[in-house]
Amino acid sequence: MRVGLYPGTFDPVTLGHLDIIHRATALVDRLVIGVAINRDKGPLFDLERRVAMIDAEARKISAGTGCEIVVHPFENLLIDCATDVGAKVILRGLRAVADFEYEFQMVGMNRALNAEVETVFLMAEAQHQAISSSLVKEIARLGGNVAKFVSPEVRRALQDKFRSNC
Ligand code: ADP
Repeated sequence: MRVGLYPGTFDPVTLGHLDIIHRATALVDRLVIGVAINRDKGPLFDLERRVAMIDAEARKISAGTGCEIVVHPFENLLIDCATDVGAKVILRGLRAVADFEYEFQMVGMNRALNAEVETVFLMAEAQHQAISSSLVKEIARLGGNVAKFVSPEVRRALQDKFRSNC
């Protein structure tokens, strides 16, 4: 059984993330979505809320694709999390040039820590490629419409947070 780990902060989950999850389900039998606690990043949504939001979306994708999807919060090293969940593949989304440098370093260091785990990069559909959680939060905070970037449930959560009609 091929197990893949898709890690991230998911603060909040966007249509870009969901696009990657959808693609990942075609590559693995079981997809573990690793939600990083990431206290340093000062997330807008607490871990429980981020997990709940991505879990609701993952259930729909799982039902549509037949791939088992599990949401797994983690606080330890990514490479150790991969071992914990039995994943031999780490899946990451790649946006434009900006992501490359960081991801390049991560692969190198993770490989040094555990050479048995491979990292695979996926690209979202063109209309989802530019979406980032941080820009979505900024748009929502300033009252802009985020309907094209997140699911209706996540949009409602952002509206509640910022008391706006974003
Ligand atoms: P992190 O803190 O690990 O960057 P994110 O939640 O921002 O967590 O992103 C998780 C993963 O999803 C990363 O691999 C990121 O590059 C990818 N990702 C985020 N948004 C998009 C997008 N619009 N298209 C493709 N990949 C994306």
